[in-house]
Amino acid sequence: MATNLLDFDLEGLVAYCEQLGEKRFRATQLFRWIHQRGISDFSLMSDLAKSLREKLAARAVVQVLPVVSTHESADGTIKWLFDVGQGDAVEAVFIPESDRGTLCVSSQAGCAVGCRFCSTGHQGFSRNLSTAEILAQLWYAEHFLRRHLGVDERVISNVVMMGMGEPLQNYDALVPALRTMLDDHGYGLSRRRVTVSTSGVVPMMDRLATDCPVALAVSLHAPSDVLRDSLVPLNRKYPLAELLDACLRYLPTAPRDFVTFEYCMLDGLNDTDAHADELIALIRHHPHTLDQRKGVPCKFNLIPFNPFPASGLLRSPADRVTNYAQKLSDAGIVTTVRKTRGDDIDAACGQLAGEVKDRTHVTHRIQIQRQKMPITASGARYHD
Ligand code: SF4
Repeated sequence: MATNLLDFDLEGLVAYCEQLGEKRFRATQLFRWIHQRGISDFSLMSDLAKSLREKLAARAVVQVLPVVSTHESADGTIKWLFDVGQGDAVEAVFIPESDRGTLCVSSQAGCAVGCRFCSTGHQGFSRNLSTAEILAQLWYAEHFLRRHLGVDERVISNVVMMGMGEPLQNYDALVPALRTMLDDHGYGLSRRRVTVSTSGVVPMMDRLATDCPVALAVSLHAPSDVLRDSLVPLNRKYPLAELLDACLRYLPTAPRDFVTFEYCMLDGLNDTDAHADELIALIRHHPHTLDQRKGVPCKFNLIPFNPFPASGLLRSPADRVTNYAQKLSDAGIVTTVRKTRGDDIDAACGQLAGEVKDRTHVTHRIQIQRQKMPITASGARYHD
């Protein structure tokens, strides 16, 4: 079987080329052709020796993913659905803004974490993506967008590993993909502009801090273990105190001096004044912070929930989101509210791919789990 060169970061490609009797600088040239120029046909790589081009054509490929569909929103957001075989599909989303172009990338087909508010979580886990399958999303999007917009320079300035899957549960494939994003001969992105979002896989957060520190986002979503246990089941393994400790250990090597906490606003479940007070106390009074006045260095990103039928959850009303943000801000915590983008193209993560199948009847399991949910301050369990 031919080797897919998208599976290698630069060091991996150097090792591969050495096996072919080629020097390091040849691997660098090849890497640049693939990632910077978007060329997959070896015969077009004009500054490589003909003998190397022939060797590569005989044993290697630059294998990208078939595109199932492309949806472009009125606001410029573009969502691609990629076929990863055996009935699985994954999504990547491009979000243009005036000062940046962000690509949201998937790391797994499905997800094993099973967060209640997440369309991907409701589909169950199918498999990890390879490094090539992670990078193929960026490769395709970047070079599609250059053609689409008629430009030669880079379009994607930021990557967030916030698509389908828990990236830190696919660590071995993730790290070479991150290195390729950061590599000056690859996509040349700043560490500050590559973000890994995790639901809190504590041991892998520690490894990432050493192996490839990039910006960190943590899906928090709840101010207490009781509530978080029911929204993000991984919390039962790595509860909030351990998770916040891991955040503090991550920061010394991180490219930013704060962690971004993602907080999905769910009507009646986690959005009341009492929840805000509990959250402020959690962040401010975590016992291991260096600065007890400031607590855990962080920013909050409040995310209006993007409803999907199987969740049984509702989006918090806009005024409650505004009020929640104000309470956090008044407590000195930098807080933003994420703009909803691409509503007209089903931009809730995993929604398109979720139409493929519900592999493990996880929706049924989540419905059973709902019955065990704690009753919230407003008395609501969930909304049907
Ligand atoms: S929010 Fe992330 S970790 Fe949770 S189920 Fe969805 S993809 Fe998995």
